[in-house]
Amino acid sequence: MSYTDRFNIIRTEVPSNVKIVAVSKTKPASSVEELYRNTGHKMFGENKAQELNAKHGVLPMDIEWHFIGHLQTNKIKYIAPYVALIQSVDSFKLLAELNKEAIKCNRVIPCLLQFHIASEEAKFGFSFDEVRQMLEDKLYQQLLNVSITGVMGMATFTDNTRQISSEFKTLFTYFADIKSNYFPLKHDFREVSMGMTDDYKIAIAEGSTIIRVGSGIFGGR
Ligand SMILES: *Cc1c(COP(=O)(O)O)cnc(C)c1O
Repeated sequence: MSYTDRFNIIRTEVPSNVKIVAVSKTKPASSVEELYRNTGHKMFGENKAQELNAKHGVLPMDIEWHFIGHLQTNKIKYIAPYVALIQSVDSFKLLAELNKEAIKCNRVIPCLLQFHIASEEAKFGFSFDEVRQMLEDKLYQQLLNVSITGVMGMATFTDNTRQISSEFKTLFTYFADIKSNYFPLKHDFREVSMGMTDDYKIAIAEGSTIIRVGSGIFGGR
């Protein structure tokens, strides 16, 4: 099956209010272009700044690039001028550096806060308490060139669907709590990015608004 066929099947299955980020990491720019030309899909995700920059340079300018990996502060400047959404903000330091680069580009960069919801140690992300402390801190409140529009998280890599479901539930509660306590009037604080190829159906059942699908569209890596 082609990328286009696989994408179209997923697009039909998934409710229309759920956005799909086609994760093109490790795949050539020509794969992105094929999907873009055949379907008009414009939302793509990458997890390395260098790879994103290379693809951005050769692909149509109306592609909305989402950054979904751990971002090193020294790489921010390459993607800050055009990135549509940084889904993986995992520290105050990163948010502050993003703000600096956003000022230089004279733009406001939309960001999601990445939470650590999985039982594995290695994954990046905030705890709920860390986010609460950050949002209450004056240093955060001075960052006017980043806009937090929601949350992101990755479930444990397991086939225990009850565990996955419960981790996504936790992320959704974090989202609802942060929205009512810190952003009650911010209409664009509304995204819950959860769900990948193997667990997006569970994520949608738990309230996902953005799924990030790589291998389910582009095949294995
Ligand atoms: C690679 C990646 C995905 C996509 O994973 P698949 O299992 O290929 O769908 C989603 N989110 C993040 C953060 C990733 O790094």
